This record gives sequence, C-alpha cells and structure tokens, in this order.
Amino acid sequence: MEELQCPACGETEDLLGRQNGEMIEVTCQRCDQQWERDPNAIPTCDRCDGDDMEGAVKAVVEKSRGSQLSIVATQVVYLCRVCDDRILSSYRIGRSPLMPDQLPTD
Ligand SMILES: [Zn+2]
Ligand SMILES: [Zn+2]
Repeated sequence: MEELQCPACGETEDLLGRQNGEMIEVTCQRCDQQWERDPNAIPTCDRCDGDDMEGAVKAVVEKSRGSQLSIVATQVVYLCRVCDDRILSSYRIGRSPLMPDQLPTD
C-alpha cells in the first residue's frame, strides 16, 4: 500500500477519498487541494523505472498582458525520489507550486 500524501502541503492523515468511477478523488482537508489517483496504476518513473514517487503540485501558467506570467491552474505531478531528488528537496521546503519546464512564449 503506497503512502498517501497531499502533494500540496504534505498532509498524510487528514485526507478524504471518494470513489469517482475508476478513479479515487482525494481531498486534503487541511489545504483543500484536490487530486485524483488511479488505484490500478502506480506512478512510475520514465527514467529509472522506479516507483518511489512523490506527488507535487505544478503550476499551469499563461501569459497575460505584457510579459506577466500568471498561474491559471495547478496540476498534480509525480516526481521520482531518485531522479528528481534535487527538485523534491527544494519543493518540500516552501511547497510553492513547481514552475512548468517550458514557459509560454510569444
Ligand atoms: Zn494539503
Ligand atoms: Zn527515476
């Protein structure tokens, strides 16, 4: 049984799961983050094939007027504790959403 953890705040206990078709919709009662998990598919790393993954919140940004980037949504992604170790350790400190690898350009 994988450990369930809120990707946004790290909460592991105050989580509410609700069956939604094939998926389980999880709500964190501490920070209101919602995400879906597929009970039949364990996230695995596409680089090392490991399954020691940790959820993180990633920002979806859009370019607004001028050169300002604004966060329009967030999505939950899974990072590998081996390959993404550096990203994860800095993410755990502030827990602010990760920025996309590619920012929208003109
Ligand atoms: Zn949370
Ligand atoms: Zn990996």
